Amino acid sequence: LSPVPSDLEISRAQTPKAVDVLAKEIGLLADEIEVYGRSKAKVRLSLLERLKDQADGKYVLVAGITPTPLGEGKSTVTVGLVQALTAHLNINSFACLRQPSQGPTFGVKGGAAGGGYAQVIPMEEFNLHLTGDIHAITAANNLLAAAIDTRILHENTQTDKALYNRLVPLVNGVREFSSIQLARLKKLGINKTDPSTLTEEEISKFARLNIEPSTITWQRVLDTNDRFLRKMTIGQAPTEKGYSRQAQFDIAVASEIMAVLALTDSLTDMKERLGRMVVASDKNGQPVTAEDLGVTGALTVLMKDAIKPNLMQTLEGTPVFVHAGPFANIAHGNSSVLADKIALKLVGEEGFVVTEAGFGADIGMEKFFNIKCRASGLVPNVVVLVATVRALKMHGGGPSVTAGVPLKKEYTEENIQLVADGCCNLQKQIQIAQLFGVPVVVALNVFKTDTRAEIDLVCELAKRAGAFDAVPCYHWSVGGKGSVDLARAVREAAGQGSRFRFLYDLQLPIVEKIRTIAQAVYGAKDIELSPEAQSKIDRYTQQGFGNLPICMAKTHLSLSHQPDKKGVPRDFILPISDVRASIGAGFIYPLVGTMSTMPGLPTRPCFYDIDLDTETEQVKGLF
Ligand code: ADP
Repeated sequence: LSPVPSDLEISRAQTPKAVDVLAKEIGLLADEIEVYGRSKAKVRLSLLERLKDQADGKYVLVAGITPTPLGEGKSTVTVGLVQALTAHLNINSFACLRQPSQGPTFGVKGGAAGGGYAQVIPMEEFNLHLTGDIHAITAANNLLAAAIDTRILHENTQTDKALYNRLVPLVNGVREFSSIQLARLKKLGINKTDPSTLTEEEISKFARLNIEPSTITWQRVLDTNDRFLRKMTIGQAPTEKGYSRQAQFDIAVASEIMAVLALTDSLTDMKERLGRMVVASDKNGQPVTAEDLGVTGALTVLMKDAIKPNLMQTLEGTPVFVHAGPFANIAHGNSSVLADKIALKLVGEEGFVVTEAGFGADIGMEKFFNIKCRASGLVPNVVVLVATVRALKMHGGGPSVTAGVPLKKEYTEENIQLVADGCCNLQKQIQIAQLFGVPVVVALNVFKTDTRAEIDLVCELAKRAGAFDAVPCYHWSVGGKGSVDLARAVREAAGQGSRFRFLYDLQLPIVEKIRTIAQAVYGAKDIELSPEAQSKIDRYTQQGFGNLPICMAKTHLSLSHQPDKKGVPRDFILPISDVRASIGAGFIYPLVGTMSTMPGLPTRPCFYDIDLDTETEQVKGLF
């Protein structure tokens, strides 16, 4: 239709096929899905065992140039591309997307189901609770947080003996260790199974974790942009006996448990990762884990359904997995390894799986390669780099772009000079993708105000910068048929063979790995560590965590750490203000500059537009 109706109107105008019908179409057996409502299902991991001998399809990553705050259409391109591949070129394909966070959905950016005629439907279900994975993550995360502070309180208010008697209670006159406690004894080098035989020294060692409160790195989380939770004091009620401390909330989707979900490849592996998560150090400087707190089993129970990818469909009825979370600036921000692995089997050797990495290639794609591909062992065949004329104009010196404020005329009228000047950002992002040895296809996501001359110029400059191909895409306004050229270009690029390589060696010291990313990817002159960051790096290295990959928390609005520096900033020193360790997820997590791990709401958040028609039960105002 022209003009194109709202995302929600388009989504609602199409009736999705029943998800069990979709599941059957893509070769799933009836007992391999768990249906949630009419149009969503979880897919059981047993499928991987059944299909283990099936060759994988081609693996395509959608990344982008440095975006405006509005988003440049990576999700939309991902959906448009699979619609084009499946519905128009007759090639099996699967899109793997991330579940949106309520933060942006009710905050600035809106949902993330794609847009226009390239969407996942029903978009309200995609954008709201889906099947509850983020709620499960929040519950698991906060159970662990509660376990830490409560343990400190109990250790400080009870004698060794009393603590031991509570931890290993008498049941019918007998004291027995649980399997989790037996594992802890083993870790402590106490080879005993009978609780009555422990010496006083062993009882004290077993009963006390001796957590040093100032080293606690585990935060509480919530999936809401609530800036007032960035710093607070907990434990102020008299019942907590003065054991109060400063703490903070992070956004749930950027939590370590979300990263564990995204990077795991089985229930057993997820349980091990959850147990390995380090929450603090003890008074001797040794790491304290979730396993030490005895909570691994409970966390796994809370996460047992979340681990299964969620099956949905595009507007054109092609399959989509929605799994794991966004926020490639403050998290690794990629969809799950499991969703990609299952999809690669389901599409077959000739098929395509298109997965999305958040924000610009400098962050989402870099983390996709160095963290996710390392965890999965999968080798990508093609990078699709999404660009828009509007973002390029911004990089060329156009006025700032703000959500909720109408675009200035530089963006709505032809301006070849701004586009030409802004293509430096596109060229740099192409070069970053090339560092990894994977062919790049530029997808220019066309808006109705873009002119022929602007479109031709971007495609020409992209090819000159080394892209395998560069094509304009029109899926947003017409659906899959508007991206058939992109689909053809991707198919051809996939035939080129990728010479994929990682950017850095894991054996390098943590500081060198951070420096490599800062210089080779962001273009920084060097890095500068705060004393806090340096001491954390020393601690993690000494604790034996020095050989993990790096997950930078950096703004997505610039290649540098300063959101207002557009284009290709040069000669900057990248400040590393703090470093955390996500040992269960398997990465070191440096915070760049003033990066906050809990976003805030703007003056006019999206929630002003969101409403429910109580007669029809229809949601209004989501986009
Ligand atoms: P990203 O994944 O890069 O953040 P999205 O795909 O979510 O971006 O798109 C952001 C918003 O822009 C969505 O609301 C989408 O409907 C809109 N959009 C995307 N492409 C176009 C286009 N070509 N024309 C108009 N609006 C678009």
